[in-house]
Amino acid sequence: MGISIQFLGAAGTVTGSKYLIKTKSTKLMVDCGMFQGLKHLRELNWAKLPIEPRDIDAVFLTHGHLDHIGYLPRLVKFGFHGKVFTTKPTTKLAKIILEDSGRIQEEEAIRANQKGYTKHKPAHALYTSADVEHTIPLIEDVADNIWHEYNEHIKFRFLRNGHIIGSSSIEIEIDNKRIVFSGDIGRFDDDMFLAPIRPKRADILILESTYGDRLHPKTKTDLKLRNVILENHEKRGTLVIPSFTVDRAQDLMYQIWVLKSNGEIPDVPVFLDSPMASSVSRLYHKYSDWNVLGSHVLKKVMESVEFIRGVKETEKLSKEEYSKIIIAGSGMMNGGRVLEYLKEELPEPNSTVLITGFQAEGTRGRLLKEGTHEIKIEGEYYPVKAKIESIGTLSSHADQNDILKWVEKLEKCPEKVFITHGEPQAANALRIKLKDTYDWYTIEIPQLFDLFDL
Ligand SMILES: [Zn+2]
Repeated sequence: MGISIQFLGAAGTVTGSKYLIKTKSTKLMVDCGMFQGLKHLRELNWAKLPIEPRDIDAVFLTHGHLDHIGYLPRLVKFGFHGKVFTTKPTTKLAKIILEDSGRIQEEEAIRANQKGYTKHKPAHALYTSADVEHTIPLIEDVADNIWHEYNEHIKFRFLRNGHIIGSSSIEIEIDNKRIVFSGDIGRFDDDMFLAPIRPKRADILILESTYGDRLHPKTKTDLKLRNVILENHEKRGTLVIPSFTVDRAQDLMYQIWVLKSNGEIPDVPVFLDSPMASSVSRLYHKYSDWNVLGSHVLKKVMESVEFIRGVKETEKLSKEEYSKIIIAGSGMMNGGRVLEYLKEELPEPNSTVLITGFQAEGTRGRLLKEGTHEIKIEGEYYPVKAKIESIGTLSSHADQNDILKWVEKLEKCPEKVFITHGEPQAANALRIKLKDTYDWYTIEIPQLFDLFDL
């Protein structure tokens, strides 16, 4: 049949998800993510793809995280003009995320030029808001859970996988060969989302492995969160919670609301400083059938938090000294409003920074988690005197057990399994576990740009 797959991202690393499927007549891309983290990874965003963007017929998106959609405007900038298929909430989320990303790319280029911390002179933006504007109309929503015909040889289906709002696995069937892309799998015991739908059949399986070597700790999140909040409040410090603006922020707001409602923590003011968060929260509200809380609870949660909007408000709040909780993006601290708070609070022994999710190599979050004594922000060093805490259980990613459970319903071993979207040790641990648990021997861990015939 002449089908091939090439790994243009999330191979040997977690970010930059991009898989290229070629048949004799069609070229499809699944996910179109941005590389994040270490410099050599980020530089891949600037490298030329081994395919002309204009030759790609269509793109399919598993979900709206930047490492799965953030390269799309660059693809459009260089000539892609096909359709982009995804679920309804992801269509809306992609608009929010990409518009923000367009602004960030432009701002970063301006800052780099002003401060002179760039090798490229002058620094250009990876893409601009105008590129994003050309991208949004290409994104088309399709119903999940049913098959759609792409052409006479190809059909596809989105199945909810419980990771964030709108997130799904994607099944693409080409002349009866079913290729299943797991996307980022959610957890089977998530507070907010319905359990991931498990695939029944996969001839080829592309499986994520973010937490392929780990189990999420069994400690209750609310207990740890409560203790961190109480301890910080006793010191009258500021608790900075760098947060991914999608899902994590909503989850944190919910958990803090529950703790307050139960009288387990005092009524400390909570601020959400992320320009995207209110729009994303509205999406959670609008598509409440994707989560288990219901719209009335979500509404109360939103009302319990003060939203910070302009940069001036950020500056003002970052100078305030009363005890408070600030949730701000970005989650790995490689950009966003959280940097303003880190500059103020990292040198403060009475303050706390609470890390709530996966921190990729090369990010400030990873450095903090590993106990660095200073952090560089926009060319300047800040000593780390604040207490650094972390909660692993807030992750919206499947752990090793969840991944094993997700593939459990497959009626037979796939012809080939590709383990992606994980750092090498996570991918390898998952490979061994799948072999030992299900006798799967046809597992590959592809490297970047590896090409396989299917
Ligand atoms: Zn994700």
